[in-house]
Amino acid sequence: MPTPLTTVRRRAPRGRYDRAVVDAILDEGTVCHVALTSEGGPVVLPTGYVRIGDELVVHGAVANALMRQAADGRPLCIAVTLLDGLVLARSTFKHSMNYRSVVVFGRARVVEGDEKAAALARFVDHIAPGRSGEARAANDSELRATLVLAVRMDEVSAKVRTGPPLDDEDDLPLPVWAGVVPLGTVVGRPQPDPALSRDVRVPPSVERLVSRSGPAAPGGR
Ligand SMILES: Cc1cc2nc3c(=O)[nH]c(=O)nc-3n(C[C@H](O)[C@H](O)[C@H](O)COP(=O)(O)OP(=O)(O)OC[C@H]3O[C@@H](n4cnc5c(N)ncnc54)[C@H](O)[C@@H]3O)c2cc1C
Repeated sequence: MPTPLTTVRRRAPRGRYDRAVVDAILDEGTVCHVALTSEGGPVVLPTGYVRIGDELVVHGAVANALMRQAADGRPLCIAVTLLDGLVLARSTFKHSMNYRSVVVFGRARVVEGDEKAAALARFVDHIAPGRSGEARAANDSELRATLVLAVRMDEVSAKVRTGPPLDDEDDLPLPVWAGVVPLGTVVGRPQPDPALSRDVRVPPSVERLVSRSGPAAPGGR
């Protein structure tokens, strides 16, 4: 349910609050932007994340300034954006983008113990499903050097734009091309580490990533 903080006012029909929509966007995304008010003023930094149930989990070095400040329980705002297309209108004013985005408001708790190791494994699996079962798990000193934070999605909104440009009726006869240029993330051919021994085969997690690749669907996904 929307709260006063998460109610989309501008283009309100694009607002979505059902968790299935929110979760689908979060599970497809890779990068979030974490914003907070630091001692020096507002800061926003991009970082990786994974959704685990009702929480967004981020991690960083214990020395990471943003993470340290986020860990003290101050209010955070986290955004995830999937860019699906460039919307080219007949007028410059009506140019737009097709997107699916999520904004989360919350405060972080520090994740520790067995939950911390499990969260880091989930983080790796969010990047490449199944990868945590293939690579060496974090050891004790790596775990000590890493701060893992979980932010409950108590207040969350999604906003989704799809479809063609919304030109003014008067502009429709203009001889100007208008439409959508779809955009998407393309998975490239894996490039083995030059230091990799020849007998190490491409693992299932990487094969699955590659099989997911393909051109962006027309009209956005
Ligand atoms: C890729 C992309 C490009 C965009 N380009 C533009 C642009 O060029 N100009 C422009 O004005 N707007 C753009 N937007 C939309 C922008 O994110 C805001 O929704 C819009 O500017 C309205 O701002 P507002 O402060 O009036 O929001 P309000 O509607 O007042 O926001 C109230 C609440 O609604 C929710 N909300 C608002 N926007 C979003 C969102 N995008 N995703 C999830 N929840 C949201 C939040 O919880 C927020 O606190 C873009 C969005 C994306 C994802």
